[in-house]
Amino acid sequence: MTQQDRPPINWPATLMFILTTLPVLFVLPWYLWEFDVSAAAWVAAGLLWMATGMAITAGYHRLWAHKAYKAHPIAKWALAIFGGMALQNSILIWATGHRSHHRHVDHKDKDPYSAERGFWFSHMGWMIRKYPSSDLDYHGMPDLVSDPVVMTQHRHYLWFALVPNFVIPMGLGLAFGDFWGFVLIAGFLRIVVSHHATFFINSLAHMWGRQPYTTENSARDNDLLALFTWGEGYHNYHHIFQYDYRNGIRWWQFDPTKWSIWGMSKLGLTSDLKRVPEIKIEQARVNRELERMNEALQARESHSLIADWRHQIDAEWVQFKGTLAQWADLQKSRIEAAREQVQETWEHSDIKSRIDAIDIEKALREQRMRVRALYREFQLATA
Ligand SMILES: [Zn+2]
Ligand SMILES: [Zn+2]
Repeated sequence: MTQQDRPPINWPATLMFILTTLPVLFVLPWYLWEFDVSAAAWVAAGLLWMATGMAITAGYHRLWAHKAYKAHPIAKWALAIFGGMALQNSILIWATGHRSHHRHVDHKDKDPYSAERGFWFSHMGWMIRKYPSSDLDYHGMPDLVSDPVVMTQHRHYLWFALVPNFVIPMGLGLAFGDFWGFVLIAGFLRIVVSHHATFFINSLAHMWGRQPYTTENSARDNDLLALFTWGEGYHNYHHIFQYDYRNGIRWWQFDPTKWSIWGMSKLGLTSDLKRVPEIKIEQARVNRELERMNEALQARESHSLIADWRHQIDAEWVQFKGTLAQWADLQKSRIEAAREQVQETWEHSDIKSRIDAIDIEKALREQRMRVRALYREFQLATA
């Protein structure tokens, strides 16, 4: 692309980035050197970062872009207000763009923040110019355009963006007698930090980390990123199972967004929390282990014992396909039993199919462990 045919600058976004970043780079260091900032300003900054950050992750992302759960209007309004304060555009624009990211992930011309176009483009570059990949069509988004919260926020976006960002830090600053401390820390610094934390999901989380579920796209699982993105660092999982309200699915994984959605469900503010069945997750993991083993075998094609190894892995693939077929049969018979609607038969067959499902899940888990052990053995044997 030559200089001339670069798309024009997107001035509103660019100016917003300049006006929020310059004070943090040039005014804040001087201010911290010269003056004391109250602890209250730091606490307020942390709380506002959490509120605006989670409004993006729980609201813009998991609720509106992915429909991973349902929310009460009170929760929706809170998410729309704090999400607007995060300065990441309206829900309608954000969620439509994000669906396009999932549909065309990594595609150079269609994914609005394709990581294939490099770190800078996927981090911020895509917002600085009016790229055709960001042209959005809301027609295919009936759920969004029919949501009064989404449309009210979209039509009055500037109010949602500006009012809380001025009123809250300034008002609190006056109340605590630390006007400029609040404006600089809970205002400007909080916006810049929360911006980059979100942007890292589009850049770093597509470049740095593990791929335990799929290598069909560049998304990664990254525990470190999860720490300051309110749990969105488990991006490999998210790209394969985008409708799950969880991103970090294990109890030890840091996903405060998941915890808050779950917590709100206990208060009746959210409902219908969607989870991908464990058996599906296990299937993806076994598939990935087997693929990894295949890649390792291909890389050492000339090794003397390769035929033996290939034989073992072929047997594992056959077993995996067999388990998948078993699972498909089970699903089919469940649907048939439900259709027959003979209560007693249905209950009996339901219990039986649940037990069968547990067996299948167990077989998959064991196979994953076995293939992983084989992989390690192979690495040692051919080192
Ligand atoms: Zn992504
Ligand atoms: Zn997503």
